Amino acid sequence: MSFLKKTPNAEYVRHTLAHLLAAAVRDVYPHALPTIGPAIENGFYYDFDFGNTPLNETDLPKLEAHMRELLPSWKNFEHREVSADEARDYFKHATKGGNRYKAELIDDLEKEGATITLYTSGTFTDLCRGGHVEHPASDIKTDAFALSHIAGAYWRGDENKQQLTRIYGLAFPTKKELDAYILMQEEAKKRDHRKLGKELDLFTFSDLVGPGLPLWSPKGTLLRNLLDDFVWQLRKERGYVRVEIPHITKKDLFVMSGHWSKFSNELFKSTTREGHEFALKPMNCPFHTQIFARKQWSYRDMPQRYANTTMCYRDEQTGELSGLSRVRAFTQDDAHVFCRESQVRDEAFKIWDIIETFYGTFGFKLKVRLSTHDPEHMDKFLGDISVWERAVNNFKDWLKERKAEYVVGIGEAAFYGPKIDFIAKDSLGREWQVATIQADRSMPESFGLTCTNEKGEEERVVMLHAAIMGSIERFLSVMIEHTAGNFPLWLSPVQVKVLPLSDKFLKYAESVADALRDKNIRVELDDSAETLGKKIRNWKLEKVPYALVLGGEEEKKKEVTLESRDKGKVGTLSVEKLSERLLKEIGGRMSL
Ligand SMILES: [Zn+2]
Ligand SMILES: [Zn+2]
Repeated sequence: MSFLKKTPNAEYVRHTLAHLLAAAVRDVYPHALPTIGPAIENGFYYDFDFGNTPLNETDLPKLEAHMRELLPSWKNFEHREVSADEARDYFKHATKGGNRYKAELIDDLEKEGATITLYTSGTFTDLCRGGHVEHPASDIKTDAFALSHIAGAYWRGDENKQQLTRIYGLAFPTKKELDAYILMQEEAKKRDHRKLGKELDLFTFSDLVGPGLPLWSPKGTLLRNLLDDFVWQLRKERGYVRVEIPHITKKDLFVMSGHWSKFSNELFKSTTREGHEFALKPMNCPFHTQIFARKQWSYRDMPQRYANTTMCYRDEQTGELSGLSRVRAFTQDDAHVFCRESQVRDEAFKIWDIIETFYGTFGFKLKVRLSTHDPEHMDKFLGDISVWERAVNNFKDWLKERKAEYVVGIGEAAFYGPKIDFIAKDSLGREWQVATIQADRSMPESFGLTCTNEKGEEERVVMLHAAIMGSIERFLSVMIEHTAGNFPLWLSPVQVKVLPLSDKFLKYAESVADALRDKNIRVELDDSAETLGKKIRNWKLEKVPYALVLGGEEEKKKEVTLESRDKGKVGTLSVEKLSERLLKEIGGRMSL
């Protein structure tokens, strides 16, 4: 995920600021031991051992202010090559009691036989390989960096080692960019799908079920199904049929597909009472090959297009799990097309159309990346390099034909074939890889998949992997944050909230709700004893697209007053006109 393009200069600025932070810490907390501090995306960090006096986030402004005080005296950088002994000696005295972290780094550099350099700016010297701006005082804008937060980190990322304090900073070429980034982060926090998922009552986690295993509420389930229905509608129009598979398999299937060794750590395995090894499926493709392989196909029957929305399971490490973005059980809106070489282009274009329609509906802007093999590291990829080159060239032709602008991601291909990745830009400008088109010639080879051609010969088929959302969970995490939970009408679990002015109008409210339900509009009636003001506040919190306010005037005229979540008060209209209006908006799957 990248927010702003990082130029080399920005990286130098960020790295230099890590030094400046360490210098400020040295002055304010002389007992703290600096360890390492690199530049990162959007900023920098530095890890310190603060000993028994931990640092608080509230201490950051003081440190930041001192960085600004020091900066003008950092006119330039000087560096000198030193022997390991000299370096060790320097860090023995730089901090009281010496710095065992730097000593360990120096030992390693010595073992590697690497050149050891010390870099100095102002009065601060650090062990470093270089990569700074030449004149910090003039190259760095004092108002374009900030310390953002602290976090725990282990020395060398090893949880058995010393726990350190990591201080994070942000740095951009200008204050304007820094401010924009901070604003965007605050907005992202407000939109965090984990927070909204709870507020909108979409999903939950249970300690008894375990981490990474989301449980879906009625509203969340509805949302998932509506998305899946949409994808299915797009597929059905293009000749797909549905298939179904079990969630476990004998080891043999994944051995043959190559996944048993490739995915070995991520597989949930179990042994049956008869001693057979089984695994929960981490993916569906090998199963679908066996549906295809159930009979011998003639070229006249090709292509075969199988769609299957189903859950997959991967044993992700607990520390990596996060909301719906990274889970252990996820639902793929999966599909596979088995076709002849001559049909690959048309089938790929069908998938492409579905992707564009689907993501376009949500207002995502799509970027395209051609992910290829890496000729230097063919050990990571199955099959012959000439097959790869031909496949990549095919993709290039199609990209040209569709006039798609794209970037090339060398080494980003799946292990069995190149792919076209679609990257969606959300409303906050963040980028997410969302869908792919992959033509796979390896799996049909591994499983011996063929059709009989016009000459009566067996012809190897090609397999296209065609998930649109990929994982519904991950797609929802992106979509919830993209829309801030303001789902378009067609996708809202509750579409209309009916708000009677008081109990006196409950009967009329019920008749209006029923009339809308008859038209398959999802309605909820707020029959609580709350005031209208409170009812309206609750309606807004639930982010339901429309509310109907009903009182004496409305009942008399058999009308409703329509309020829109996005546009405010719309006006007064009959129930008939209202349902017409809503159905039109739902049917068109209008976006925001
Ligand atoms: Zn450095
Ligand atoms: Zn697949």
